[in-house]
Amino acid sequence: MAEIPAIKSSHPRQRRRAGSDGPTHKERDYLEIIYYLVQRGEPVIAAHVARWLSLQPPTVSHALQEMERKAYIRRDERGEISLTRAGSDLAERVIRRHCILERFLADSIGIPWHLVHEEAVQLEHALSPLLEERITAMLRKATTCPHGNPIPGSGFTAVGSVRLDRVVAGTMFTIQRIEEEAEERTDLLRYLEAHRLLPGNQFFIPDASADYGITLRSCNRDMTLSPEVAAIIWGESSPISALNS
Ligand SMILES: [Zn+2]
Repeated sequence: MAEIPAIKSSHPRQRRRAGSDGPTHKERDYLEIIYYLVQRGEPVIAAHVARWLSLQPPTVSHALQEMERKAYIRRDERGEISLTRAGSDLAERVIRRHCILERFLADSIGIPWHLVHEEAVQLEHALSPLLEERITAMLRKATTCPHGNPIPGSGFTAVGSVRLDRVVAGTMFTIQRIEEEAEERTDLLRYLEAHRLLPGNQFFIPDASADYGITLRSCNRDMTLSPEVAAIIWGESSPISALNS
């Protein structure tokens, strides 16, 4: 009679508990955020991570200590955080998984654009390596998430982008991406989607002011965004003459 494999070693939940010194779900979230903050080229401190996660600084500080112990991050004497090689590799894997899930949810099963981030956050920790591999194979050509943010390892980088709150009046602006931090704000994403402020869409900028906001024109309709909202939108700015030539 064929031997039944031992239940203990084959049970998925038990397998998931194995390797308890690996990164926790929370640590994966932190790595993702630290990676994005590092990419911005600004000094990364615990307060930035706390703000992004809407957590109290002591909570974040405790988690960062543990991540330092596991050698995912380093902190210098001023408290500035950087990722170790292991931390950076892990962060890229976490982000790639998040991005391909977002693409799958948006492109294959029609989840609305403003909800794909939220849905992917819920699913990403449960994605098995097999499912990840199959979804990646389906989306071989994808280089960005549906919000336009580059998928690590895809070879695409958003070089040359300008922030919408820094463009000058009289130019054309093509949206390339919505900043990662804003993906947490579902209401804001809903607003952007409702107004067609999506990657790939192009607008004329008739008016731009650091105090009053940026006006975008499309199909003879104007809308003015506050400088705060414009600051989360990145894209390509071009003079009208270049566009018409
Ligand atoms: Zn995204």
